[in-house]
Amino acid sequence: MRRVAIVGAGQSGTQLAHGLLQRGYDVTLLSAHSAEELLTGPVMSSQCMFESALQTERALGLDHWADQCPPIEAVSFTLQGDADSDGLHWIGRLDGVAQSVDQRMKISRWLTDFAAAGGDLRIQAAGVPELEELARTHDLVVVATGKGDLGRIFAPDPRRSPYDRPQRALALTYVTGMAAATTPDGATAEGATGPPAVAFSLLPGVGEYFTFPALAPSGPCDIMVFEGLPGGPMDCWGDVRTPEEHLARSLEILREHFPHEAARCEDVALTDGGGVLRGRLTPSVRRPVATLPSGARVLGLGDAVVLNDPITGQGSNNAARMVRESGGFRGEASASMRIGRGGAATSACARSARCSGRDRPRCAMG
Ligand SMILES: Cc1cc2nc3c(=O)[nH]c(=O)nc-3n(C[C@H](O)[C@H](O)[C@H](O)COP(=O)(O)OP(=O)(O)OC[C@H]3O[C@@H](n4cnc5c(N)ncnc54)[C@H](O)[C@@H]3O)c2cc1C
Repeated sequence: MRRVAIVGAGQSGTQLAHGLLQRGYDVTLLSAHSAEELLTGPVMSSQCMFESALQTERALGLDHWADQCPPIEAVSFTLQGDADSDGLHWIGRLDGVAQSVDQRMKISRWLTDFAAAGGDLRIQAAGVPELEELARTHDLVVVATGKGDLGRIFAPDPRRSPYDRPQRALALTYVTGMAAATTPDGATAEGATGPPAVAFSLLPGVGEYFTFPALAPSGPCDIMVFEGLPGGPMDCWGDVRTPEEHLARSLEILREHFPHEAARCEDVALTDGGGVLRGRLTPSVRRPVATLPSGARVLGLGDAVVLNDPITGQGSNNAARMVRESGGFRGEASASMRIGRGGAATSACARSARCSGRDRPRCAMG
C-alpha cells in the first residue's frame, strides 16, 4: 500500500487525507492542533465556499452540515457614492447555493472522522527535520500548512507574486442578530430584503466590507469581513485587545463608512469569544515542489503555495479544487498525481498551483 504523509490539517490537507484514505492509501496526517483545540479556539477564515467546491466535499461524504448551514443564494455589490458621484448597486443569483461552515467545527469533525476511519493522525507541528523523517518513511509528503512559516520552503514564484507587503488590514467578526439585507432602492424580485447573499460593499480609497450567513459551533450566524487599505481609515485595529472591543470597532467602521450595513447591525452580538480575527497577509505564489536538504522532494498544496485571500474570497475554494485535481476526490478519475518514494510528485498539483487562487493566534495572519 502506498504511504502518503500530509502536514497541515486545514481545508486542503484534511480533505486530501480523507480522499486518499477512501482510495485505499495509507495516510498520515500531522495537525498542529487537536480536534478539541480547533473546535474551542479562534475562527480562522470566513470560508465561503461555492457550489463546485462544495461538490468536492459532498463527493467524499464530508458535507455534514448541508442541512443546518444557512444557504447563500446570491452576490450583491454596492459601490458607495459620494458628493461627486452616484453609487452603484447590483445583485445576481448564484447558479448553486454557497455555504460557509466555520472551519473550527468542520476541521475538528474531519480530524475525528479521519482517525476513526483508520487514518494515522498525529498532533504535532512539523519542521524540516520532521519532513525529512516523513520523506524516509512515506512515498509522498504533502505540505498543506496554509500561511504557516513552513510554507517558506517553497521558493517564491516572482512572476506571480507582484506584492512585497500586505494589501489589506483584515478582520473578521462572527455575530448573531444581524437583520436581513435590504437593497438601496428597497426592491428586488424577492421584495425589499432579497435573497441571502454575500453582500459586498466597496468604498474607494478606504476598503471593502462584506457579510454573509454562516454556521458556527453555536449555530447560524453572520460573518463580517473587513478589508482596509493599509494606512487608511479602516486600518484601525492596532489598539483593539478584547473581543468586545473588536465588536465595538466593527460597528464603528460600519457606522462611519457603510451606514446601509450598520442599519442591519443594531442588535448584533458575538457568537462567542473566539469569533474574531485580525491580521494582514502578503499575497504570494510559490513553486509547488520543494527540495529538502537530503534531496527528498515535497509537494505543496493550498495556501502554502497560492496565498491570495481573503481579497479574492476563493482560498478555500481553491484548496478544495487542488485536492480534486490531485486525486483526493472520489467522484472523478483525476488521480494524475504521480508518486514515488521520497516525494516525486507533479502534474495536476503543479497545474493547480498556477490557478489564482495562520496560525492559531488571533493575529497570526501577520
Ligand atoms: C480573514 C480570512 C477570510 C477568508 N475568507 C475566505 C472565504 O470567504 N472564502 C474562501 O474561499 N477562502 C477564504 N479565506 C481563505 C481560506 O481560509 C484559505 O485559503 C484556506 O483555509 C486554505 O486552506 P489550506 O488547507 O491551504 O490552509 P489552512 O486551512 O490555513 O490550514 C493549514 C493548517 O496547517 C496548520 N499548520 C501550520 N503550520 C504547521 C506546521 N508546521 N505543522 C503542522 N501543521 C501546521 C495550521 O495550523 C492549519 O491548521 C479567508 C482567509 C482569511 C485569512
